Amino acid sequence: MASYDIILKRSEPVADGTLALYFDKPDGFSFRAGQCVRLVLKEPPETDDEGNGRILSLASAPAESELMVATRLRDTAFKRVLKGLEPGAELTLKGPYGDFVLPAASDVPVVFITGGIGITPVRSMLLQALDEGSSCPITLFYANRSLGDAAFLFELQQACAGRSNCELVTIMTQDTGWQGEQGHLDEAMLRRHVVNLQAPLYYLDGPPGLVSAMRSVLAGAGVPEDRVRTEEFAGY
Ligand SMILES: Cc1cc2nc3c(=O)[nH]c(=O)nc-3n(C[C@H](O)[C@H](O)[C@H](O)COP(=O)(O)OP(=O)(O)OC[C@H]3O[C@@H](n4cnc5c(N)ncnc54)[C@H](O)[C@@H]3O)c2cc1C
Repeated sequence: MASYDIILKRSEPVADGTLALYFDKPDGFSFRAGQCVRLVLKEPPETDDEGNGRILSLASAPAESELMVATRLRDTAFKRVLKGLEPGAELTLKGPYGDFVLPAASDVPVVFITGGIGITPVRSMLLQALDEGSSCPITLFYANRSLGDAAFLFELQQACAGRSNCELVTIMTQDTGWQGEQGHLDEAMLRRHVVNLQAPLYYLDGPPGLVSAMRSVLAGAGVPEDRVRTEEFAGY
């Protein structure tokens, strides 16, 4: 698999305890929205059993000029080093990997169901589809405990605003003051936003517990398995 040297341009918080890192696109690198890469630290001052790299989805869309990944900052050697990197730091990028991607030129409705850091590949796919002028109906169910956890929410709201084919359903599971959907996604919530549950292709991703819970909801609602694509963020 191809390997590239990349230079950190900047990093910035995008939600509580969540860091986005931005890089120039290396020459010759291309990817499909939804794919991931392996990001490897060069000669880090500390390491751990998981090694110096992690698989991270590309949260940037191919149409954007920079590459961007985002991650929850937990207390592991990799994340501690990542958090301390200054602009100009050199890393290695390997990839891209994965087939958690949208079908080419399709009018089939798409439903994304994700939560927390699972938003990364979805941000890429949704922004790319809108950039390409896709007319396929897109519904994004995006769950977080509270507003502070919801990375990229404002820009996704802005991207969908005024587009008749894009609905963003923002769910808060632990914020009783939230004006939108609250609590865990269930069949009733799905039916409030998706007219014909059999029609769409479903994309579920994020921490494995969330993906398996969502898969059960869809199975219970009678959605055939071959309509469901999943990507589990092993390690959460
Ligand atoms: C296809 C794919 C795409 C992914 N995309 C992303 C992405 O876009 N963004 C992203 O952040 N991650 C993504 N991941 C997950 C990522 O690869 C890491 O596994 C994850 O970020 C955790 O890394 P870590 O250094 O925090 O923990 P690791 O050191 O990798 O954790 C190892 C083990 O320790 C446990 N652990 C570590 N720290 C804690 C803690 N503080 N509390 C509880 N348990 C802990 C973990 O549950 C895990 O079992 C993706 C994974 C896959 C497979």
